[in-house]
Amino acid sequence: MSKFHINKHGVPAPCKAKPGNCPLGGDETHFGSREEAQEAIDKINEEKHGLLSEMKEQMKEQMKKMANEELLQITIANARSVGTGYNEEIEEFIRIAKEELLERMSK
Ligand SMILES: [Zn+2]
Repeated sequence: MSKFHINKHGVPAPCKAKPGNCPLGGDETHFGSREEAQEAIDKINEEKHGLLSEMKEQMKEQMKKMANEELLQITIANARSVGTGYNEEIEEFIRIAKEELLERMSK
């Protein structure tokens, strides 16, 4: 039975390599059907987004506790290092964080 793997574009594709010979990896990256491969891709994407929104919540809490410029810079640096591949969302978060900081400083 031919297997499906997740190709370098992140989409399911039939694997034409001999068993154990695929450059994309072993059993952990190969699935019995296109549907199974797609499910695995969806799960990975969900986990990535879940991790990011969790990080956003944690940073918001941090911001509320100690809003100062130095902390903001550290938070932004952390966000950039963790958020590889999600730059638009990270920039959005940084914008929100800055607005929150400005609001606090004006009080
Ligand atoms: Zn393969």
